[in-house]
Amino acid sequence: MRPLVAGNWKMNGLRASLDVSRDVCSALARGDVSADVMIAPPATLLMAMVGVCAGSNVSVAGQDCHTAKSGAHTGDIAAEMLRDAGATAVIVGHSERRTDHGETSALVHDKAAAGHRAGLMAIICIGETQAERHAGQTLAVVASQLAASLPPSCDARNTVIAYEPVWAIGTGLTPTVDDVREVHGAIRRDLETRFGSAGSAMRILYGGSVKPENARSLMSVAHVNGALVGGASLKAQDFLDIIAVCET
Ligand code: PEP
Repeated sequence: MRPLVAGNWKMNGLRASLDVSRDVCSALARGDVSADVMIAPPATLLMAMVGVCAGSNVSVAGQDCHTAKSGAHTGDIAAEMLRDAGATAVIVGHSERRTDHGETSALVHDKAAAGHRAGLMAIICIGETQAERHAGQTLAVVASQLAASLPPSCDARNTVIAYEPVWAIGTGLTPTVDDVREVHGAIRRDLETRFGSAGSAMRILYGGSVKPENARSLMSVAHVNGALVGGASLKAQDFLDIIAVCET
C-alpha cells in the first residue's frame, strides 16, 4: 500500500513559512517519491501553498471544514471552498477540534461526508485520551469513534484514518510498538467488517509525536500506512527525514 505522510501545521505559519513547503517540494523533485506527501497549512496560507506546490509531488489539505456548502456560518470554511482553493483533502475530527470545539463523532461523520461531496479525501482522526488508556478503554473508544465518524460514502480512495492517541499529540510521548500494532490491527478488522475489500485498502496513519528518531519503528508496524505529523512537519528537514523513512 502506498504510504501517505501528511503534515498538519495547525495554527502555525505566516507567509514566510511557505519556504518550508518550497524546500519540501524541491527536495522531493530530485527523485522518485514512493509515498504520497501532503501538507495542511492554516487556511490563510492554503491558496498560496497550492501555488508553491503546483507541479510537485506535494498536495495541500484543509485542517477542517463545515458540513454545509455555503451559508451564514461566520468564520467557517466549506469543503467546496477548500476544493476551489486547490486542496485535495481535508482533516476532520482532529482531537484539538474535538476538545477545543466540542466536536462529536456525529459531526465528524457529517464533515467527512461534506469532504466527499466536494471531491476531497477525508483524513478522519480518532484516538483515546490518557484517562481512557489507563482505564483500559482504548480499543472500545477507538471502535466507537470509528463506527460513528465514518459516513457510508467512505472508500479506499477518498478516506484515510489517522489513529492519534490524544496523550501523544505534541507531548513527545508515543505508545509502544506493541500498542500501536494492537490498535491498528483492531482498526483494520473494523474497517474490513464494515467496508469489505475497501476496508482492507484504506490507509491507516499513525499520528502523535512522530519524529525522525522514532519514525522507523512506528512505520514498521503492520497496518501503519503512513503518518500524520504535527510539530515535525514545520521543519523541512525533519519532515523530509520522516518521508524518507515512510518510503522504505
Ligand atoms: C497532530 O497534530 O496531528 C500531531 C500528531 O501532532 P504532533 O506530531 O506534534 O504530536
